[in-house]
Amino acid sequence: MKKQQICILGSTGSIGTQALDVVRQHRDRYEIYCLTAHRQVELLAQQAREFQPAAVVIADETRYEALKALLADAPDIKVYAGAAALEQIVTADPIDMVLAAMVGFAGLLPTINAIKARKKICLANKETLVVAGQLICDLARQHHVPILPVDSEHSAIFQSLVGDADASIEKILLTCSGGPFRHFTPGQLQHVTAADALKHPTWSMGDKITIDSATLMNKGFEVIEAKWLFGVEASQIEVLIHPQSIVHSGVQFVDGSVKVQLGVPDMRPPIQYAFSFPERLSLKGERLDLFAQQKLEFFKPDMQRFPCLGLAYEAIQRGGNMPCALNAANEVVNEAFRNNRCAFPDMARTIEATMAKTAFDALPSLEALLQTDAEARGIARGLLGATK
Ligand code: NAD
Ligand code: MG
Repeated sequence: MKKQQICILGSTGSIGTQALDVVRQHRDRYEIYCLTAHRQVELLAQQAREFQPAAVVIADETRYEALKALLADAPDIKVYAGAAALEQIVTADPIDMVLAAMVGFAGLLPTINAIKARKKICLANKETLVVAGQLICDLARQHHVPILPVDSEHSAIFQSLVGDADASIEKILLTCSGGPFRHFTPGQLQHVTAADALKHPTWSMGDKITIDSATLMNKGFEVIEAKWLFGVEASQIEVLIHPQSIVHSGVQFVDGSVKVQLGVPDMRPPIQYAFSFPERLSLKGERLDLFAQQKLEFFKPDMQRFPCLGLAYEAIQRGGNMPCALNAANEVVNEAFRNNRCAFPDMARTIEATMAKTAFDALPSLEALLQTDAEARGIARGLLGATK
């Protein structure tokens, strides 16, 4: 069997490293063509030594010499740097699939190029669909490119849909751990810190998405992601707080049947399923023990205490460039909160005000989305400065 050649965008991150674990278990099927990272040259070089890709790309150009030096004795591995190199490398002929596992808006342009080059997309970078869902779906259709979800909830929905048409969906059941502040009062939320938020109760993930999980913006993004992936309206997507993170999400069908997918909280199964679909491969790891599971609970989310979820519903209902503005403002406040430059409730407040101030565009082109991103970032930064 010809080995599938994989390009991993963001190989040093939480998803990227777990994807390499999957590849380690299936060397007979998968080969790494390219690994990329933002700044972590040491880990990238170590990964390159192990997987011997044809190329590595470091996004931060100031780290190029350091990476080159680390790989001086590996002349077969080509070393590139910069955002343009990232956008270029995904189009390389031998690549069969691209795992989009970079964080944030930076993942958009490489993913667009990969689609245009007809590479199968395994999508972890949900921000891409939040910012440009319509454009990405149109491009994927036009180029006959499959987009396979890596996000655990969307993988669960996708797995629940095997054998059923999207048109048979009555409702999507999108589960959410509720984050570390599920029981906190508004008064307590005023004083929580990034360090508190980074103690996620059930999943271990990168810092940015962990903060998004604490505000429930991550779930808001996942509502938008599900709308685009499964062609449903946001009003058909119900969020259920499920603190045990065992039911990964599912579908209620038009005949009233419900299918959900269960498992231990581990990102490797959904990553592997995206790689191998329609096949299901073996994977070593922890197994779900339902006898040990005392209870499975489900609650309605509280959008008063966690307004980011409501803002995401509002953004997708308004449509056009609003989800792009939502994402841009969120990236600004998320970073500010991580650096102790704003309080937890300031994040939602700033995003709401940014959306109100951003010029609306009902049918944005890619250029217009890039402009919206810049405009909304500027507005959010200004607003944050004003709250200090
Ligand atoms: P992370 O911060 O752990 O890793 C991000 C990776 O992207 C790193 O390799 C980093 O070097 C690279 N990167 C960051 N900024 C970059 C830039 N500007 N240019 C080039 N490369 C850059 O993040 P993560 O938790 O692995 O999440 C990655 C994506 O997957 C996010 O979009 C997140 O929402 C999504 N996701 C993550 C999880 C999870 O369990 N971690 C689950 C579902 C979805
Ligand atoms: Mg998720």
